[in-house]
Amino acid sequence: MLPKYSLIVPIYNEEEIIPELYRRLNAVMNRLDGVVELILINDGSRDRSLQLLRELHQKDPRICYLSFARNFGHQIAVTAGLNFVRGQVIIILDADLQDPPELIPDMIEKWRQGYQVVYAQRTQRLKERWFKRFTAYFFYRILKKLADVEIPTDTGDFCLMDRQIVDILNSMPERTRYIRGLRSWVGFEQTAIRFERNPRFAGEVKYTFRKSLALAINGLVSFSIVPLRLSTYLGLIAAAAAIFMALLVLYWRLFVPHSPLTGFTIILMAIFFLGSVQLVSVGILGEYIGRIYEEVKARPLYTLAEVGGFYHKSSNSTR
Ligand code: UDP
Ligand code: MG
Repeated sequence: MLPKYSLIVPIYNEEEIIPELYRRLNAVMNRLDGVVELILINDGSRDRSLQLLRELHQKDPRICYLSFARNFGHQIAVTAGLNFVRGQVIIILDADLQDPPELIPDMIEKWRQGYQVVYAQRTQRLKERWFKRFTAYFFYRILKKLADVEIPTDTGDFCLMDRQIVDILNSMPERTRYIRGLRSWVGFEQTAIRFERNPRFAGEVKYTFRKSLALAINGLVSFSIVPLRLSTYLGLIAAAAAIFMALLVLYWRLFVPHSPLTGFTIILMAIFFLGSVQLVSVGILGEYIGRIYEEVKARPLYTLAEVGGFYHKSSNSTR
């Protein structure tokens, strides 16, 4: 029988968490009013995670798993899960229990009220490093200002989506999968549910600074072209500064007997300033061109090494 609810959880080196994750999810799954499937995506873990997923699949037929041939990243893992889901109602959550599974029944209640998307919005981040809280705070606010769609602040991927939304996401060909943005782009009736973000249950954060930065740039670049305009503005500012300096030098030459223009400091400054304006502009251009290149190559988003479960195919599943 096809499931009504599908839960998607990406897993990357989470061996310490999987037993507790299953315990908490199982309690919630048993309370739901329909058949549930739990899809665990192993994103190229190097620890015993895959082994644990196989065991869970043996023990509990509601559990299916996908295993990538290498680490493709969180957003791609969630995308793979979305490609395989068969339920009417799809819920995405992190493995580390920072997104409390106990919120799921409340989200489903909102779905019953007619919302197609119910996203969880953090009111507070408990015990996360100040640097993460600080950068995340500013990033979400900048994104909100620049993005062409309204992307709510302080929301991650923890959300409930109706099948209709997931079908649309699956039909989007783009390679840069900034799921929280794409989800907003789709539209329909969306609502928030507020929660306090708990600290990670165990283990290290899997989003390194580099991965977080890449995610942030992906979000900005795929939902805004304002950064491209930034080069124009920077260029105009540089031009204005240059004209002002030219006039100043002319004035000094013509009307001031002992020109205060001493040494080459000012020339060096001008060179550095222009150099950085140019490099920043080229860099921004590069971000966009790089993404065009990625799209044109049209490689598959991930490679699957192993699939466990999914014996009943859904007619509207994409593969
Ligand atoms: N994750 C993943 N692939 C990665 C990095 C992270 O599948 O390359 C998963 C990880 O297992 C977890 C979720 O993404 O389920 C969020 O990661 P984490 O808690 O480390 O990041 P946070 O969002 O808390 O900063
Ligand atoms: Mg986390």
